[in-house]
Amino acid sequence: MIKRIFLTVAVIFLMMGCLRPKAPQTVPVRAEFVLATVCVIMLYDRGEPQVYEEVFARLREIENRMSFFMEGSDINRINRAAGIEPVRVPGDVFYVIERAVYIAELSGGAFDPTVGPLVALWDIGGATPPRIPPQEEIKKLLPLVNWQNVELDRENQSVFLKKPGMALDLGAIAKGYAADEAAEIIRNAGIPRAIIDLGGNNLLVGEKADGTLWRIGIQDPLDERGAYIGVLETRETSVVTSGVYERYFVYEGVHYHHLLSPSLGHPARSGLLSATIITGISMDADALSTAIFVMGHEKGIALVESLDGVEAIFILEDRSVLLTGGLTAGVDFFITNEDYRFF
Ligand code: AMP
Ligand code: MG
Repeated sequence: MIKRIFLTVAVIFLMMGCLRPKAPQTVPVRAEFVLATVCVIMLYDRGEPQVYEEVFARLREIENRMSFFMEGSDINRINRAAGIEPVRVPGDVFYVIERAVYIAELSGGAFDPTVGPLVALWDIGGATPPRIPPQEEIKKLLPLVNWQNVELDRENQSVFLKKPGMALDLGAIAKGYAADEAAEIIRNAGIPRAIIDLGGNNLLVGEKADGTLWRIGIQDPLDERGAYIGVLETRETSVVTSGVYERYFVYEGVHYHHLLSPSLGHPARSGLLSATIITGISMDADALSTAIFVMGHEKGIALVESLDGVEAIFILEDRSVLLTGGLTAGVDFFITNEDYRFF
C-alpha cells in the first residue's frame, strides 16, 4: 500500500515535471557571419532565442539590400542603372543613402558613398591578388567619385547616379545603421541591456546590471585583433573605429589599407592609425569615423567639435592619442598599453 502511494506520488511529480511549461532556453551571446563580418549580439540574462532570430534576420535583410557585391541588392540595382535611370528603393535604403550624402557634404567629401569604382579597382582585402592600380586607371575613375552627382527623389524614394560608371558603396555606413536597427528590436523586446558588436562597430544598449559604466577596449592598430591600447568608460552610446588594420594588403613592404581618399584615389595617408567616434546613433558614428580618418586629426577634430554629442579618439602614427574636448584623459579614457601616450 505504502509502495503504491509512493509510486502514485512519484508519477504525479513526473507528470508535473512534464506539464510544467519549459523555461525558455536563454543564451547570453550569439554570433553569426553577416554583413561580411562577424556580428556578435550579447543579450546577457535575457537572451531569448526569438529576439536573436529577429535581430539576425534584420541584419541579413539589410545586407541583402545594401551590399555592394551582392547581385540583385538595391545598391547593385542603383549602380547598374547609373547614367540610365532612377531606381526606386525601400525606405531604409533611401534613408541610409540620404544620410551618407549628408555626411559627405559635412566632411567636405572625405567620406563619399560614391567611392564604389575606386573600392572595386583596389579590391583591398578582396579576392583579387594585391596590386597597385596604374595611375591612369585611377585618374579615369576620379571624375566618377562625387556625392554631388547622387540625385535623391524623396517623393518617389528613388536614387539616380547621374554619370554612367558611378557606383555607390555603403561599406562605411551600413554596419552602423544595422547596429541601430538591432538596438531598436532589442529595446522593443523590453531587453534592458545588450552589446551589439558588428565587426568592431559597437553599440551599447542600456546600463550594466551593477550600474557601473560600460568599458570598451580601443583596438591596438599595430597588434592582433583583441589587443587594445586603452579603455573607454561610457554610458549607453555607440563606439565605432576606422583603422588601418581592418582590411589591407602589404605590397613590396608598403601597407595599403581600405580607407580611400576620394580626391586622390589612394589609401588615405592622414597621419592616423585609427579614428574612433563616440555618439548615440551608430550610423553617424560609422560614417563619421571613416570621414575623420580620411580628414586627419586637425580637420577631424574641428568637425567633431562642431557637432553636438559627438566625441572622438585619434591614434596618430607616432602612437600618440588625442581626445576631443568632451573626453577627459584618465577619467573617460585610460591608456593601458605603455607603447602609447597622450598627445
Ligand atoms: P569603415 O570600416 O566604416 O571605415 O568603412 C570602410 C569601407 O568603406 C571600405 O571598405 C570601403 O568599402 C568604403 N570606403 C573606403 N573609403 C571610403 C570613403 N572615403 N568614404 C566612404 N566610404 C569609403
Ligand atoms: Mg565607417
